[in-house]
Amino acid sequence: ASPDKHKYDHLFKIVLIGDSGVGKSNLLSRFTRNIFTHDEKSTIGVEFATRIIGITDERDESASVRIKAQVWDTAGQERYRAITNAYYRGALGALLVLDITSNKQTTFDNAARWLRELNDHADSEIVVLVIGNKSDLESGPRLITAEEIQEFASAYKHPYIETSALDGSNVDEAFKSVVEKIYNHAF
Ligand code: GDP
Ligand code: MG
Repeated sequence: ASPDKHKYDHLFKIVLIGDSGVGKSNLLSRFTRNIFTHDEKSTIGVEFATRIIGITDERDESASVRIKAQVWDTAGQERYRAITNAYYRGALGALLVLDITSNKQTTFDNAARWLRELNDHADSEIVVLVIGNKSDLESGPRLITAEEIQEFASAYKHPYIETSALDGSNVDEAFKSVVEKIYNHAF
């Protein structure tokens, strides 16, 4: 019998949060379909998309575990601060996405607000990863340094990673690190 590639051991809900325009929808489409779109107002508008990934069990490195990551994206409600409780319900992980080419003050003010929102609406054990997206624009209009985001994330004891949905760098790693952390803390 051929192994069933659709089989998985666990399903984890993960939510994308962050300001409009930071690249949430493109991180999702890069991760689940390997697609990037330059379109400013791409109305991909999916509620969530999934991908099954293999991870290692910290306590048994010979064991391969297959996790179905069910990643939720906003359909633009973040613009109106109208994200509902249903969005956070059951979420085990959250990716807080920042845009390294955005205004520093606004970015960190809003990032703090996003973490308060998580605190109010999500499970207290939720695994959070702070993402600095658009790393491909490093030599262009970058306005926030890695050190500054690192410092912000550390203050909340969250890890930090830089990604580019455009060239794909670190995108799989970002999602995988959250999934692995959820698994290794919860099971
Ligand atoms: P969302 O509003 O957070 O969902 O952001 P989108 O995914 O819709 O992206 C907003 C804009 O930023 C679009 O024009 C994307 O093409 C662009 N974008 C997203 N990710 C990246 C990235 O990693 N690098 C660059 N250069 N542009 C990006
Ligand atoms: Mg979007």
